[in-house]
Amino acid sequence: MKVDIVQKVLKANDEIAKLVKDKLKSYKMFCINMISAPGSGKTTLIERIFQEDAEDMRIGVIEGDPETTRDAERISKYNVPVVQINTAGGCHLEAHLVLQALDKLPLGEIDLLIIENVGNLVCPVGFDLGEDARVAVVSVSEGHDKPFKYPKLFTTANLVILNKIDLLPYVDFDVEEFRKGVLGINPNVNIIHTSCRTKEGIDKWVNWLREQVKNG
Ligand code: MG
Ligand code: ZN
Repeated sequence: MKVDIVQKVLKANDEIAKLVKDKLKSYKMFCINMISAPGSGKTTLIERIFQEDAEDMRIGVIEGDPETTRDAERISKYNVPVVQINTAGGCHLEAHLVLQALDKLPLGEIDLLIIENVGNLVCPVGFDLGEDARVAVVSVSEGHDKPFKYPKLFTTANLVILNKIDLLPYVDFDVEEFRKGVLGINPNVNIIHTSCRTKEGIDKWVNWLREQVKNG
């Protein structure tokens, strides 16, 4: 019985995700869904885009969080359209929440829509938000066994960002083991190493986004 209910919820979500997709398409917006554990640096990775030379992309942001508008406030400092979705404790975003958020964005004026999902490696993976690409973020202060423990995220990711790379000398994160794990699940996925502090790899992140927007 329980399995049946879960499947119904997912099916309803998929139908709304299709509406989101159609809407994004009609406005020629490319959409990414960023998924990670809490504290891996998603919001800072978004902020760094605006500090790079990225004015050629008109960007909008949807921030998902269980509580508070802290992340949206950080993003709004860069004068980009941002909508906060509070899930009231809910641990993932769903397509109907994104569909509502789209109404609050200037849709004709955005080329790239970035959705920051709620920090959680498990259930966001099961909910299609109508995005064109998924970005999985892992920081080196977490374990290098993430791809082994949460394979589904890495199966569905179009880009994997290994963040906080500047902390490598201080932690026991095995980069080779991590890469092996990711590529064992998703052999063709791009893996980018970044540090939001030293800005290492931020140009690669922005270039990856630019390529996606260009190739639609
Ligand atoms: Mg955040
Ligand atoms: Zn959840």
